Amino acid sequence: MVKRDRVWVEGAFRRIPGAAPGEPAIIATFRDVGERQRHARALEEARITAERASQAKTDFLASMSHEIRTPLNGVIGYADLLLADRTLPGRHRRYVDRIAAAGGALLTVVDDILDFSRIEAGGIALAEVPFAPAALVDNAASIVRGLSEPKGLALDVALDSAVPDWVRGDPDRLRQILLNLLNNAVKFTPAGRVAVRVEVEAEGGALRFSVSDTGIGIAPEQHGRLFQRFSQVDGSIRRQYGGSGLGLAICKGLVELMGGAIGVDSRPGAGSTFWFRVRLPACPAPAAEEAEGRPAPVRPARLLLVEDVPINQDLARAVLEADGHGVDVAGDGAAAIEAVRARPYDLVLMDVQMPGMDGITATKMIRAMPG
Ligand code: ADP
Repeated sequence: MVKRDRVWVEGAFRRIPGAAPGEPAIIATFRDVGERQRHARALEEARITAERASQAKTDFLASMSHEIRTPLNGVIGYADLLLADRTLPGRHRRYVDRIAAAGGALLTVVDDILDFSRIEAGGIALAEVPFAPAALVDNAASIVRGLSEPKGLALDVALDSAVPDWVRGDPDRLRQILLNLLNNAVKFTPAGRVAVRVEVEAEGGALRFSVSDTGIGIAPEQHGRLFQRFSQVDGSIRRQYGGSGLGLAICKGLVELMGGAIGVDSRPGAGSTFWFRVRLPACPAPAAEEAEGRPAPVRPARLLLVEDVPINQDLARAVLEADGHGVDVAGDGAAAIEAVRARPYDLVLMDVQMPGMDGITATKMIRAMPG
C-alpha cells in the first residue's frame, strides 16, 4: 500500500510577461509551511485545553462553595435561633455567639472565593437599574455601624450636592465594593473615624467614592500588591485581623468590569483613603415598583417549603415561622406537586437538587397546572 503524507505548502504564482506560445507562461513557487501549521494547531489546542481547565476550575469552585455553604447555613442559622432564645444562660450565649461569628467569617471566605473565581472566568453580568446613591451609601454605612460603634469609631457620610439623586448602574455590586472598603477601614482603625464620601469629578463627571480612615495605614511599597489576590500586607495582619486577602482583588475586578478605576492613598500611621471612580449616568426618578431597595411589606403567608435535607427543612421552617408565616414541608418534587394540588399556597420555596423529582421539573409541572 502506498503511504501518502500530507504536506502543507504555501504557493505563489507569477505570470511571465511576453512568453511565446508553447513556453511556460506562469511560474509557481511552493514553500513547505507544515511547521507553521503544526505550531498554530498546537497553540490552538493548548488554548482550548487551558480554557477547559479554567472552566473546570470555576465549576469545581462553584460546586465546592455550594457544598460548603449548605451545612454552614445550618451552623449559622441554628446559632442565630439559639441567640434569639432569651432563656439561654450567659456563658452559653457567649459560646454560641462565637460559633455564629466564626460561621459568618467562614461564609465570607467561601463567598469571596466564589466571587473571585466568577470574576476571573468573566461570569459576572452587571445589572443596570435606577438607584439612589445617597440611599446606597447610607445603607452600606448602617450595616458597618454594627462594627464601628462597639469600637467607639465615628462613621461619617458625606455626599456632594452635585451627586445626582438617581443614577443607573449595579447597586448590589457597588454596595459590595463599599462594604468591603468600609469593613477594612473599621477593621484596621483602632481609634478615630471612618468617612465615606461621594463626589462628582470635575473632569469627565464620573462619580468618585472614597472611604477614609485614621487607622494603621499602609507603606507605599505595599500599595501595588494590595489589589492582587490573596495579598495581605504581612503575615502578622492575617494572625491579628483574619481575612482572606481577596476583598480588594474582588473590588478591583468589579470596578474594572464597570469600566472604572480603583486606588489607595496611605502612609503608615497616617490612615488610608481607598477610592474608586465609576461612570454612572444620571436618570429620572423611576416608577415606584422599579426602584431598588424598597422593603416589601410583610404579611403572614401560607408557604410550601420543598427541601430534602432535614436540617435545612427544620431551620427554614423555624426562621419562616418566627416571621409569622404558616409553613408546610415537602421532601421532593413529587410531594410538592401533591401538596400544591391539595391546597393553595402564596409561595413555594423550591430546592433545585433533590432525590426523585428535582425542583426544576416540579416547578415546570406546577406552572403548567390550571389556576
Ligand atoms: P482581607 O480580607 O485580608 O482584609 P483585602 O484584600 O480586603 O483582604 O485587604 C488586603 C490587605 O490590605 C489587608 O490584609 C490589609 O493588610 C490591607 N488593608 C486593606 N484595607 C486597609 C486599611 N483601610 N488600612 C490598612 N490596611 C488595609
